[in-house]
Amino acid sequence: MRLSQFHLNTAREAPADAEIASHKLMLRAGMIRKLAAGIYTWSPLGLRVLRKVEGVVREEMQRAGAIEMTMPCVQPRELWEESGRWEKYGPTLLKMRDRKEQEYCFGPTHEEIICDFVRSEVSSYKQLPVTFFQVQTKFRDEIRPRFGVMRAREFLMKDAYSFHLDQTSLDETYKTMFDAYSRIFTRLGLKFRAVAADSGAIGGDVSHEFQVLADSGEDAIAFSNESDYAANVELAEAMAPEMVRPEPSKELKRVDTPTQKTIAEVSAFLNVQPTECVKTVLVRGVGGVVALCLRGDHELNEVKASKLPELGGESMLASEEQILAATGAHAGFIGPVGLPADVPVIVDRAASVLVDFVCGGNQDGTHLTGANWHRDARVTRIADLRKVVAGDPSPDGRGTLSIARGIEVGHIFQNGRKYTQTMNVTVLDANGKSVTPLTGCYGIGVSRVVAAAIEQGHDERGIVWPEPMAPWRVAVCIINPKNDSKVLEAAESLYRELNERGIETVLDDRGLRPGPMFADIELIGIPHRVVVSERGLANGTFEYRGRVDTESRNLDKRELLALFG
Ligand code: ATP
Ligand code: MG
Repeated sequence: MRLSQFHLNTAREAPADAEIASHKLMLRAGMIRKLAAGIYTWSPLGLRVLRKVEGVVREEMQRAGAIEMTMPCVQPRELWEESGRWEKYGPTLLKMRDRKEQEYCFGPTHEEIICDFVRSEVSSYKQLPVTFFQVQTKFRDEIRPRFGVMRAREFLMKDAYSFHLDQTSLDETYKTMFDAYSRIFTRLGLKFRAVAADSGAIGGDVSHEFQVLADSGEDAIAFSNESDYAANVELAEAMAPEMVRPEPSKELKRVDTPTQKTIAEVSAFLNVQPTECVKTVLVRGVGGVVALCLRGDHELNEVKASKLPELGGESMLASEEQILAATGAHAGFIGPVGLPADVPVIVDRAASVLVDFVCGGNQDGTHLTGANWHRDARVTRIADLRKVVAGDPSPDGRGTLSIARGIEVGHIFQNGRKYTQTMNVTVLDANGKSVTPLTGCYGIGVSRVVAAAIEQGHDERGIVWPEPMAPWRVAVCIINPKNDSKVLEAAESLYRELNERGIETVLDDRGLRPGPMFADIELIGIPHRVVVSERGLANGTFEYRGRVDTESRNLDKRELLALFG
């Protein structure tokens, strides 16, 4: 490709409403243009990158044995009524009518359609297992589309669906897809983790999210530095400390803390560490208030708390009146010592090994020092209540945890018979008996991957692509093409030769001055830049610079080609 014949439209500044690096840089590089909220046009430059991602995804799906097809974007209401999702999917589902007043939606996902396809196309166990995939436009009327194509309303997804006679077969394909996803994100040069996802609503289902690590990510994940353990922070288990609680050595004493309420204030005032304090949170339980006790430096994990039988699925703070009624004090001065017998005291694992600790005195303006479990305070139960923090031991016993933010780029699920049952998908088994197959479904946000890669790879000059995603690998730049036909010829011939060797190269023959030309090439993130100039030609060299290099190097042709293996 010659840039003079391409459409490149870069800008120095990003619009003020672009908040994160990828959104700003995609707009500045002219990869996307906003048409309406969450709806974007992909320019020729943007499309080149999108196709790179799509290409790797397609190759790995095929390697994993999935078969490509394509299903309609516009889907009849009847199918969604059958699955029970026409109403249940909620306002995210974009609905429309045709001239005959028939109702349709724009597909946010394709379980209904693939089930309809399979029930008419697949009739025998001999056709199973089978996995179909497509790369196709989805529409979800997101409540808050933002960050450009990261959370768009219209976006490109690869979705795959597998059908199985039994759980063993589903497990096998799930594993194959898991491996294919790992290969895809590895090949694309992304730092990612496969995270065991909250099986939440659909109880007991197996599910993994593939998260690209980036500070702007919406999800917090905990992962081991020594194993491939990774989990959503909400789900990561905080292990019990190995130490045994020492014997009490101090007496329980009430001290005045007239205005000190927070752990920070109390620990500074009493000259102790937050790790020597117990903080108490009163929540609404199924049979009245419940006290949850944590070490002062730890935070309550509400997802874990809500799973306690005493809380019955929800974690809601007690009201001011409830706190006063149960403890006789206001929030900031409450603690586990002397609580009424009907208030369960549930103590986090880490807090349960504290000795001679500081806690609220259940009397406004006071705290207690030298407090001890059992001697001074009841313990109804010890439980895992807190959010894990960096440095905690990994729950798999290997290494310690780091916490990072992640962007969900892929999600794989085992759905069991959830859709096949409601949609009446059956096949005949080896005995001629009609059975309902199990399904798995597997999505990748192809367009989101592009933005996620930029979140991971950029600097003050622009995008730093992982090489497999770059719009071109090499840019051959011509200084003063009009003045010197020798320079032009040499550049043309290098450009042709690189492309013939399969090294995707673009020729910058736009006749720009070096400053603006290099700024564009850096902004759009071309990994390798080669400048052909009169001076270089006289010495038989090209001026080479890698995208993240700090200096250029003069290389002869042989040295240059050697860079590309
Ligand atoms: P999210 O939690 O980010 O809303 P999701 O869990 O609803 O995503 P899935 O139904 O698992 O999404 O869809 C598969 C993949 O499609 C996601 O892993 C994500 O990469 C991508 N995706 C989902 N919603 C969007 C969106 N609004 N814009 C861009 N990509 C999206
Ligand atoms: Mg998901």
